[in-house]
Amino acid sequence: MGAAEMTMEKHHGSCHCGAVAFEVVSDFSSPYRCNCSFCIRRGATMQRVPASNFLLLRGEDAVGLYGGRDFAKHYFCKTCGIPCFTRIYRGQESEVAVNVGCVDDVDWQALVPDLFDGAHLL
Ligand SMILES: [Zn+2]
Repeated sequence: MGAAEMTMEKHHGSCHCGAVAFEVVSDFSSPYRCNCSFCIRRGATMQRVPASNFLLLRGEDAVGLYGGRDFAKHYFCKTCGIPCFTRIYRGQESEVAVNVGCVDDVDWQALVPDLFDGAHLL
């Protein structure tokens, strides 16, 4: 599915080996790449959603947590190593940034990501 046809709906996603699976509700209208020291290495196009639009279906025990900064917790599959999602905490509000490459029916190559200047985030 390309960027033009995307509507706000539920999508299924997973890591490479399948130990981690999730559902995400998004239209993928604001994909981004981030230039922070972690995301440069991760090399993924990400999409943020409200935390309530993300549901971890499987893999609570299969994910490892890489600290990052205290407002961004990066979760990866301990078996296949794929960084599937990041939980973001900003005050009371929380969001999840999903690795678009992990989402089954979204063509990440059809999305045109913005640059997010995470390297200079205070
Ligand atoms: Zn995996």
